[in-house]
Amino acid sequence: MDLLKEIRNVPDWPKPGIQFKDITTLAKNPAAFKESCDLIIKKYKKKNIDEVAAIEARGYVWGGVIAYQLGTGFILIRKPGKLPADTIIEEYELEYGTDKIEMHVDAIKKGERVLLFDDLLATGGTAKAACNLIEKAGGVVAGIAFVIELTGSLHGRDKLEGYDVLSLLEIPVEE
Ligand code: AMP
Repeated sequence: MDLLKEIRNVPDWPKPGIQFKDITTLAKNPAAFKESCDLIIKKYKKKNIDEVAAIEARGYVWGGVIAYQLGTGFILIRKPGKLPADTIIEEYELEYGTDKIEMHVDAIKKGERVLLFDDLLATGGTAKAACNLIEKAGGVVAGIAFVIELTGSLHGRDKLEGYDVLSLLEIPVEE
């Protein structure tokens, strides 16, 4: 099926100039949601994944399903201040300013193969920071999967050079 049709474009949200790719419309369509999960599961089924890590909040929707189907554990990567035990933090650049993500320090055992999932790749800053967290904790990033990749001027994939990156849909950024 055409998953692209299930993505709603919301112009000027959360601020003027941003074309927000709303994935909630895909998530609520049973066939589209299943297919988007299945395509990622199929690719990583035989890749000896130990853990799926995902970034809050939309990442958890797919990430949990993928982990369940791959028979792996699930690791929560969160915005700062939400995780209760000892954490490691990674700061990364945004268009204006910086942001941070956090993971429990004991979330990953040394050498574990981790599949990272997020809903969308834009500049790649968030996913790169998540890779840094996984690697600092001793894990190996065995793959990075997205439903949507924004292509064109953002060059998100370049920031993830050297990693195995899968995106189900490529959407050119409108300048
Ligand atoms: P980035 O770090 O620039 O790759 O941004 C990726 C993160 O920001 C993902 O978690 C997305 O959910 C969110 N994001 C960035 N740009 C958009 C957009 N145009 N539409 C929807 N989500 C976006």
